[in-house]
Amino acid sequence: MRIAFFDTKPYDKPSFDKYAEAYGVEIKYFETKLNGDTAELAHGFDGVCVFVNDTVDAEVIDKLCELGVKVVALRCAGFNNVDIRHARGKITVVRVPAYSPYAVAEHAMALLLTSIRRIHKAYIRSRDFNFSLSGLTGFDLHGKTVGIIGTGKIGRVFIDICRGFGMKVLAYDKFPVPDLDNGDTVRYVGLDELLSGSDIISLHCPLTEETYHMISEDAIEKCKKGVVIINTSRGALVDAEALLAGIKSRKVGAACLDVYEEESELFFEDNSGHILEDDTLARLISMPNVIVTSHQAFLTEDALENIAETTVANIVSFFEKGECPNEVG
Ligand code: NAD
Repeated sequence: MRIAFFDTKPYDKPSFDKYAEAYGVEIKYFETKLNGDTAELAHGFDGVCVFVNDTVDAEVIDKLCELGVKVVALRCAGFNNVDIRHARGKITVVRVPAYSPYAVAEHAMALLLTSIRRIHKAYIRSRDFNFSLSGLTGFDLHGKTVGIIGTGKIGRVFIDICRGFGMKVLAYDKFPVPDLDNGDTVRYVGLDELLSGSDIISLHCPLTEETYHMISEDAIEKCKKGVVIINTSRGALVDAEALLAGIKSRKVGAACLDVYEEESELFFEDNSGHILEDDTLARLISMPNVIVTSHQAFLTEDALENIAETTVANIVSFFEKGECPNEVG
């Protein structure tokens, strides 16, 4: 089994090398992302391994099929970058449905605490021996209401963390989880009630046609003044222009973003020597109440191990048994 591994980062290799050797899979690492221009690199390989910002659209799928590639192994949970409908019947797509919901949920809480307790400001100040407290006033999480959109694996871990802080939870999901609503500290409500009743809103649903720009100008209008918005899910769940307008008008009190809708050319790369073309992102980053991390919520040692093991096992299962429990579509 020969696998072409796209968009390789240094932190991918140790865990993938370990499991590839253990399972007898040969991996060739490419730094470039998979797209229409680079698909040719998969020539002579049985499968490709891709991440969130690789493009697996109809053109790439057709090219991979022409080259005899049999499987697209996503080393992530989300698959919005794959044209699943086009892939059906042509090429098998497998993914890692869960690798560490804790990694993402804990990052969401890290962002929230950093933001509302102004840790990002205090860290810079104290390094400059500026021990003034002016402008660092935060607020208690205890007693506040958090709105969780998407109560799957990550959303539920985040709910547990928030409950540990003594917060009340309003939850919204297209497919509610039985028994999660206790009628008191955790309640399922409609989206509008969640928007209007939450001090903090955290997004944990997938990006689909239905959830695209779920946090729109209209949605922000319905929110409480000063709402804190956390997005560790997918960038395009939030209309970035509307968010920026909400920050400027003071309707949105803070934003914690691990993902951004136009991230694919920017995130995961060192762009420090470049002029940033994206004015919306530049303006968001310039705001004192916006924290942006570069899609790093998944990045823990535990998650990387799980991702590598499941991805390699998916590939082996597909080639040896002709099926894989983690097939998409
Ligand atoms: P999951 O499938 O366990 O849960 C997703 C939940 O969203 C489900 O309960 C589902 O019913 C719900 N949902 C689906 N459509 C919805 C809709 N229209 N409205 C409301 N809810 C809807 O997924 P998960 O493992 O909890 O992951 C959630 C998301 O987190 C993923 O889709 C992925 O985009 C993102 N993610 C981000 C990172 C990161 O590093 N930032 C890492 C892993 C996952």
